[in-house]
Amino acid sequence: MAKSNLHCSFCGRNRDEVKILIAGQEGHICESCVDHAREIVLQEVENKAGRGSDFRLTVRKPMELKQSLDEYVIGQDEAKKILSVAVYNHYKRLNQAQPTKRSKKDDALEEVEIEKSNVIMVGETGTGKTLLAKTIARLLNVPFAIVDATVFTEAGYVGEDVESILTRLLQVCNYDVAAAESGIVYIDEIDKIARKSDNPSITRDVSGEGVQQGLLKLLEGTDVLVPPQGGRKHPDQKLIKINTGNILFICGGAFDGVDKLIARRVNTNAIGFNVNKDLQDAMKSNLLKYVNAQDLKSFGLIPELLGRLPVVTYLDPLDKPTLRSILSAPKNALLKQYKKLFELEGIALQIDDDVLDFMVQKALEYKLGARGLRSICESILTDAMFELPSTSTKSFHLTLDYAMNKFEKSKLHILKVA
Ligand code: ADP
Repeated sequence: MAKSNLHCSFCGRNRDEVKILIAGQEGHICESCVDHAREIVLQEVENKAGRGSDFRLTVRKPMELKQSLDEYVIGQDEAKKILSVAVYNHYKRLNQAQPTKRSKKDDALEEVEIEKSNVIMVGETGTGKTLLAKTIARLLNVPFAIVDATVFTEAGYVGEDVESILTRLLQVCNYDVAAAESGIVYIDEIDKIARKSDNPSITRDVSGEGVQQGLLKLLEGTDVLVPPQGGRKHPDQKLIKINTGNILFICGGAFDGVDKLIARRVNTNAIGFNVNKDLQDAMKSNLLKYVNAQDLKSFGLIPELLGRLPVVTYLDPLDKPTLRSILSAPKNALLKQYKKLFELEGIALQIDDDVLDFMVQKALEYKLGARGLRSICESILTDAMFELPSTSTKSFHLTLDYAMNKFEKSKLHILKVA
């Protein structure tokens, strides 16, 4: 009988010498090479898990934290203050978890268990929620991961399991489990998993309430087996155990329309009382200030989830002066970044003040918020950044005329006019 010329592309053994030969696109693999490859993968994951990272928690006092946040985030004083305290208490609780020697007198206090202070931030998109969470994690030197609540579905359905949150955190810190266990996770768009209807029991809601239920244990603190490379768990995969008890979860969302719920609550509360009219007017100007867990429950978050997010705070909408400072005041402000880019090319960039006003005005007019400032700058400066490096120019003066001219020819403007 003629010998088959099929063979394992890894070990070279012939079809007759192996039990199974699995075909790939351009080659084959035998059962023992599959086993061998699997061992290598497991070894690699284990090595990664033990390799450690540079993250070492540096606890800072709330006032210090707030001052440092001020260097990167403009305004949002209330959110900064509340977040600084919550974060400080969280890490104090974490340190308390390691038993210390105390006198008898302190025994009663010893038994007091400090609960986790996970935070929920409510504010329009682009007002700095992610920036605040990211900056605070960097200041404390702990691993930080951002996840979007909209990608999750209830376990067993198409989409991602909530556990994948932890895969990202592990990847950020090079599989250093101890570091990941004291990290910060920012869950964006938490409002998008609100219950859609008031009647929870009629249909299964895999993307809304189901996900909220899935998050409960994670937020409170539990052991989770996490697939190191992400994706759904499968039986042969080596899983890494992570305890979420000391991970701080910060959630954020725009909660469009929550102001109406706040207004309704405030008004209902006021019935029968002689409420000061000025106070009411002041309240109406920024209702978000008065947001509480009850409003978020009316919006569609389940009470159990809100119970695990005890700290509620809000972010102010960005007004003209705030947007203007965002352009130039933060440590890595947009304009400082452009100046640096030009400087690296040997070109001094000078920007007139009225150009800044123009950019802010366009960001407000086009409802682009702070995120839009970047696209506006790009639309004005791209031509200069394209042409100048090929010339011998040593300085560039950005005037209002130039800015208006470039902006009018930009995609942003054309799309709006069209
Ligand atoms: P959100 O998470 O609220 O949607 P982000 O934090 O992602 O908004 O903000 C988007 C970008 O806008 C940030 O990367 C930052 O450049 C800028 N930005 C927004 N708010 C502020 C602020 N208060 N101070 C400084 N920069 C801000």
